[in-house]
Amino acid sequence: MVELKNVSVTYSTGVDALNNVSLKINDGEFAFVVGSSGAGKSTLIKLILKEIDATSGIVMVNDYNLSTLKRKKIPEFRRTIGFVFQDFRLIPSMTVYENIAFVLRVIDAPKKYIRKRVPYVISLVGLQEKSNSYPNQLSGGEQQRVAIARALVNDPQLIIADEPTGNIDPELSYEIVDLLKGINDCGTTILMVTHEHDLVRHFGGRIINIDSGEIVFDEVIGGVNED
Ligand code: ADP
Repeated sequence: MVELKNVSVTYSTGVDALNNVSLKINDGEFAFVVGSSGAGKSTLIKLILKEIDATSGIVMVNDYNLSTLKRKKIPEFRRTIGFVFQDFRLIPSMTVYENIAFVLRVIDAPKKYIRKRVPYVISLVGLQEKSNSYPNQLSGGEQQRVAIARALVNDPQLIIADEPTGNIDPELSYEIVDLLKGINDCGTTILMVTHEHDLVRHFGGRIINIDSGEIVFDEVIGGVNED
C-alpha cells in the first residue's frame, strides 16, 4: 500500500518537484506511472523508498508512516519493498543463483531456506537453465528476469520497477511486463514507471500521469487485449 496525503517536495535549490500530491495505491494493485522527463517520477519513487523526505504532507507505505519513521527502522521498512532498476544492477562476478541468494544472505536468512527459496524464484521467472550463468552470458531480457527474481526473493509487499524495459529489446519488453503482471496476480503490489506508451496502451490498467509535480491523470484504462 502506498498513500500520499497532500505531499509536496521542494528541493534545496527551490525546485518544487511535487506539488500537493495525494495518491493511494492499494495492496494488490498494479499501477503504471508515466510522465515526461522532469515531471517528478523519480522524486515520487525516492519518497516511497524514504531516500528523501516530503517537505510537507504524509507518506504511508506498507503500513509505515514515513514521515515519523525512525532512522533505525528504515532497513526493516525497506525489506517490504523489492526494486527493479532500468540497468539491472546485477553483480557481474556472481552467477544468477548467487546474485539472488546474496539478498537473503545479507539478512542472515537460514541456509536451508535460501536453498529452497532461490531455485523457486528462479523458476518463477523461467530461468532454471541459467542458474549457474553469469550476467554477461545472458540477454538483457534475461538479466532483467534475474533482477525481478532478486526483487521477489524477500517476498516483498510492493515491487517498484523503474523503467524496467528501458534497456531491453521492445519485443522482450512485453514479456517483462507479463512477468510483472503474473507476480501481481499472486498478490504483490506493483508500481512501474515507464516512458513506453505502447506498453501502457497494450496492457492497460491503472495509469498515473505526473506532469510538473502534479497528478494530471489517474484512471484505469482497458488494454488492447482486453474487453
Ligand atoms: P522525473 O523522474 O520525472 O524525470 P524528477 O523527479 O527527477 O523527474 O525531477 C523533478 C524536478 O525536480 C525536476 O525539475 C528536476 O530537475 C528536479 N530535481 C530532481 N532531483 C533534484 C535534486 N536532487 N535537487 C534539485 N532538484 C532536483
